[in-house]
Amino acid sequence: MTEPNIIAIDGPAASGKSTLAIHLANWLDYLYFDTGIMYRTVTLAALRAGIDIENEAEITGLANRITIDVKSPTPGSGRTYDVTLDGLDVTDEIRTAAVDANVSPVSAYGGVRKAMTEKQRAIGSRGKVVMVGRDIGTVVFPEADLKLYLVASVEERARRRHQELLASGESPDYQKIAESMRKRDDIDSHRSIAPLKPADDAHIINTDHLSIEQVFEQVKALIR
Ligand code: C5P
Repeated sequence: MTEPNIIAIDGPAASGKSTLAIHLANWLDYLYFDTGIMYRTVTLAALRAGIDIENEAEITGLANRITIDVKSPTPGSGRTYDVTLDGLDVTDEIRTAAVDANVSPVSAYGGVRKAMTEKQRAIGSRGKVVMVGRDIGTVVFPEADLKLYLVASVEERARRRHQELLASGESPDYQKIAESMRKRDDIDSHRSIAPLKPADDAHIINTDHLSIEQVFEQVKALIR
C-alpha cells in the first residue's frame, strides 16, 4: 500500500467529512486539518468587532491581521482540537448559530480566501495530512494524491446535525437547521471564487444510506 501524502475531503455541511477525516488520520497517523475552522474564526472575529458582514474591505483586513491557531485538545475536554483567536480559546464559540448564519458570506470574499488558502497550503505542504473543506481538491491542493467528495441529501444531513445537538443536551429545531444548511450550501456552491464542487478526479461518495464504518471501509479499499 502506498499511502497518499495529501488527502483532500470536500463536500457540503454535515456530509460526514470530519468524521471520515478523523478516522483516516488516526488510521494513517496523519494530521487532521479542518479548514472550516479558519473561516468560522474570521467570522467570529468580525461579529465580535461589530463589523458589518457586507463590509468586504474591513473583513479582509481583519482576516489578514488575526492569528488563528489549532492545537492539541485540552485534556479531558472531549474535543478533537482547541482553536484560538489571537491567543484566546474560541473552540465552542465558532460553532454557534450566529457564526453558522454569517460564515458563508464571509467565506465568499476573495481576500479572505487568499489569506486562508495561503495558511492552509503552508500547513498541508508538509504532507501526511487529511484536509477537509469545500475547495481543497479544486483550489488549495489540486495536486492532492487522493480526493474525496462526500454528498448526502439535506434532509439526512440536517437529521444528523439535529441528533448531534440533541446528544449534547441542546433543544435544536430540525427545520431551522435544514434551512440554515440550505442557505449555506447555496452560497458556498454559487460564489465566484472557489465554489463548492467536486474536482474532476474526485471520488464521489453518497453517504445517505451508509454508516461511518461503511464509508471508512470504502475509502480504505480505495487507498489499498
Ligand atoms: O466545514 P464547516 O461547515 O465548518 O465550514 C463552515 C463554512 O466555511 C462553510 O459553509 C463555507 O462557507 C466555509 N468554508 C469554505 N472553504 C473551506 C472550508 C469552509 O468556504 N475550505
